[in-house]
Amino acid sequence: MELHQQTIHELQEKIKEGKTSASQIAQSVFQRIDVVEERVHSYIRLMKEEALAAAQKADIEIKKGNIKSLMGIPIALKDIVCTKGITTTCGSHILYNFVPPYNATVVEKLRDAGAVFVGKANMDEFAMGSSTETSYFGPTRNPWDLERIPGGSSGGSAAAVAADECIASIGSDTGGSIRQPAALCGIVGLKPTYGRVSRFGLIAFASSLDQIGPFTKDVEDCAIMMNVLAGYDPRESTSVRAETPDYRQYVGQEIKGWKVGIPKEYFVKGIDPEVNSAIQKAITVLEKSGAKIVEISLPHTQYCLAVYYIIAPAEASSNLARYDGVKYGFRSPDSGDLLDMYKKTRMQGFGAEVKRRIMIGTYALSAGYYDAYYKKASQVRSLIKRDFEEAAKNCDVILTPTTPTPAFKIGEKTDNPLQMYLSDIFTISSNLAGIPGISVPCGFTSGGLPIGVQFLAGHFEEGKLIQIASAYEKNAKIEKRRPKL
Ligand code: GLN
Repeated sequence: MELHQQTIHELQEKIKEGKTSASQIAQSVFQRIDVVEERVHSYIRLMKEEALAAAQKADIEIKKGNIKSLMGIPIALKDIVCTKGITTTCGSHILYNFVPPYNATVVEKLRDAGAVFVGKANMDEFAMGSSTETSYFGPTRNPWDLERIPGGSSGGSAAAVAADECIASIGSDTGGSIRQPAALCGIVGLKPTYGRVSRFGLIAFASSLDQIGPFTKDVEDCAIMMNVLAGYDPRESTSVRAETPDYRQYVGQEIKGWKVGIPKEYFVKGIDPEVNSAIQKAITVLEKSGAKIVEISLPHTQYCLAVYYIIAPAEASSNLARYDGVKYGFRSPDSGDLLDMYKKTRMQGFGAEVKRRIMIGTYALSAGYYDAYYKKASQVRSLIKRDFEEAAKNCDVILTPTTPTPAFKIGEKTDNPLQMYLSDIFTISSNLAGIPGISVPCGFTSGGLPIGVQFLAGHFEEGKLIQIASAYEKNAKIEKRRPKL
């Protein structure tokens, strides 16, 4: 197997045994990028020079015996996390030339753990979308079928891992943007509990829902990444001061006697039959692993999408007010007075989906409508959260499909926003409730497209997710395939 095809833990072993070096790994990844990137388009910007220099530095440390947990591991960053001195566009024209003066906390943590940054990954503009088609820089393609979308909004980060253009990557998840593309690209993606990973330096979409998390090739790598990412950050006001366990201890543990809840509301009409049968098989694997399957109910599920599409646009309309041509990025070149400059900058700088969200959000927050929309949505959000608290009394973890369908064709849903929004029907509830969720590969369609199964647990129970995902991965023995590129 070539270096770029391996996992973090496999490469770590090789580095420790002196069988490879950080520079060799970085070279291998960039050679792979040379071959496939033109077709996949995972990246908005590559950082080859910086990466090779970082790899050389890592090799010096390795020689000294200083081998940190991500030493020499090539990692891609979604272009929504700020990188000091390196453009951070958020997939938008309005930030096409924005160079942050600081690093996001996760960037510093990864760097301090020895990671080598490969580049800034493509994404839907301001993380609004489920297909990476709203990027100002053009779409990313699914490595398993280049006619199809990789999912979104973190589609570049997911495709880069699936196509072996990096070893692991960072995404952000507001309504499913880590788990949905992980499922559609056949890799592992975890959205941590709200407050578990610092959002400092993450460009805000909907602040009460956004979380940063990892994309990896397997569950053990997910645990390794979480060990680096999780933890309190005094620079972030919603960051939680809670103990972070060693997530790696949960890898390879049994799940005998665990109760796995199957929410009946998630298995109704609209699920693709091949997705459904893969999920049923996953349930059987867990039963055989000693878990007990129990039916549960999350009665407010039917309101999740509606609540999300009030709360997320409302918060986005407020967060995106700062892009006015004065402080950041793009300014319309052909404007007159100040008001005209604001208007033209925003008109020319934002794409259609972002404008749609700003309009919905501004409307929902308008005087006279606030009580009817935002306040109502917040109240229903509390009920959704309570559903999960009630469910936790009857099970240890919840199992659902990650997505209702496998990857769809590029262009198939761009004219129908509601159809597009339905892609996140199974992932949005956990953002509203603030709980963690993981998507793990659970098979392929007859046409060779990956399918994902999602596990959800209570607040700060990422360890449980890693434990069940790892047990499932081990016992399901899903055939190891690579996309043919
Ligand atoms: N697809 C959802 C949206 O467009 C979720 C995006 C996300 O998680 N960033 O809002």
